[in-house]
Amino acid sequence: MSKADPKKFHIKSFGCQMNVYDGERMSELLAGQGLSAATNSEDADMVVLNTCHIREKAVDKVYSDIGRLRRKDGSSPMIAVAGCVAQAEGKEISRRAPSVDIVVGPQAYHRLPELMETAKSGKKALDTDMPAVSKFDVLPSRGKQARPTAFLTIQEGCDKFCTYCVVPYTRGAEISRPWSDLVDEAKALVDGGAREITLLGQNVNAWTGEDDKGHHQGLDGLIRALDKIPDLKRIRYMTSHPNDMTEGLVAAHGDVEKLMPFLHLPVQAGSDRVLKAMNRSHSAQSYLDILEQMRKVRPDIALSGDFIVGFPGESDQDFEETLQIVRDAKYAMAFSFKYSPRPGTPAAMMEEQIAPEVMDERLQRLQSLLNEQQYAFNQQTVGRTTNILLERKGKLDSQLIGKTPWLQSVHIISPDLKIGDLVEIEITQAGPNSLTGEIKERIAA
Ligand code: SAM
Ligand code: SF4
Repeated sequence: MSKADPKKFHIKSFGCQMNVYDGERMSELLAGQGLSAATNSEDADMVVLNTCHIREKAVDKVYSDIGRLRRKDGSSPMIAVAGCVAQAEGKEISRRAPSVDIVVGPQAYHRLPELMETAKSGKKALDTDMPAVSKFDVLPSRGKQARPTAFLTIQEGCDKFCTYCVVPYTRGAEISRPWSDLVDEAKALVDGGAREITLLGQNVNAWTGEDDKGHHQGLDGLIRALDKIPDLKRIRYMTSHPNDMTEGLVAAHGDVEKLMPFLHLPVQAGSDRVLKAMNRSHSAQSYLDILEQMRKVRPDIALSGDFIVGFPGESDQDFEETLQIVRDAKYAMAFSFKYSPRPGTPAAMMEEQIAPEVMDERLQRLQSLLNEQQYAFNQQTVGRTTNILLERKGKLDSQLIGKTPWLQSVHIISPDLKIGDLVEIEITQAGPNSLTGEIKERIAA
């Protein structure tokens, strides 16, 4: 193995699904350069750490991961730090961690091959530009898919500037990828074996574009176009912002069969005072109103969300209002975090930062309520007949794991079925995090 001329790469992605997508695109790019994929970093002579900057711990983890890449003989592979930490920290990374050869931001990773050439010559390579030419125009087209489920980034960046969040700074301004590129990429993913596509964006429902007839379209229009791809069986999207939830998108949940009954719609907090300080520009009630509309057209929709506890100035009463909105909204699953001050964001400068022990206690109370709701949601589905798309092998012999339309994991035993099959099952048991099912019938996939 040689750092001067790497042959095998390994990419480790942290954080959101958009990073997973970027990791896949970088992997295709490096494969196109003649490098082959290694299953772990020890076997690789080029390692990409595709980082996340959303919370403080994520940054610390990157530096400890860089340290761990050092080999017993003191050498290290070629190391590239990509993603949002690369964007935010820039040169600081190779100053703090001299073993890092390449620092590349989320809008510049299509330039990895050139950056590798610089690194091969022993120089440090840095690219955190937000270039005018989109990376999507130069990345290789999609080929055979390793899994039946694929991600497709349709929108990037954010103009919302929630006061706690680094995304508008690390991912840049909001852009929507063009309609025809997305339809083509979706078709290529399906030709490559994908049966489910999750459309991704920081604010995926802010996506807009013009269709091939020049008509203005929103996310619902794009979903309806993808619905026409015959071998595509399931469509999902995330993450949505309450302010961009259109009537058209709600209506699509009522009549597009391939659009799965799942909605990831973060509210962050239940107190209007806190929502205002967060610059969320929606209220607790306007959030609940969206859910009411959605449940009218799709009563079985599984709701998912994100929460932040301990935002500066959050009082006991504010926190009680967060618990109340959880009780009112009823979640099938959710992600909850302690507020983490991010450098350069307005909230980091606010007075009244909340003590860590108060945050811990609030997070525990919130998570136990959310866990209760998740378990209750899972239990409600017992006895139901539904379909699952088989995604991976389980730990037991002939065990396969698939996902329901509501994104729950189901374990089944079958020596005859394979990954990628869509099967009808009856849900026989529910635990807090997964379900067990029995096969009824295989559906042509
Ligand atoms: N655009 C999405 C939205 O507005 O809901 C979310 C994108 S963000 C990458 C994912 C989640 O990370 C947020 O919904 C929020 O709950 C959490 N998050 C963002 N900044 C945070 C911070 N400074 N501290 C703790 N959690 C944070
Ligand atoms: Fe961050 Fe808010 Fe934009 Fe979501 S909407 S990415 S939380 S600034």
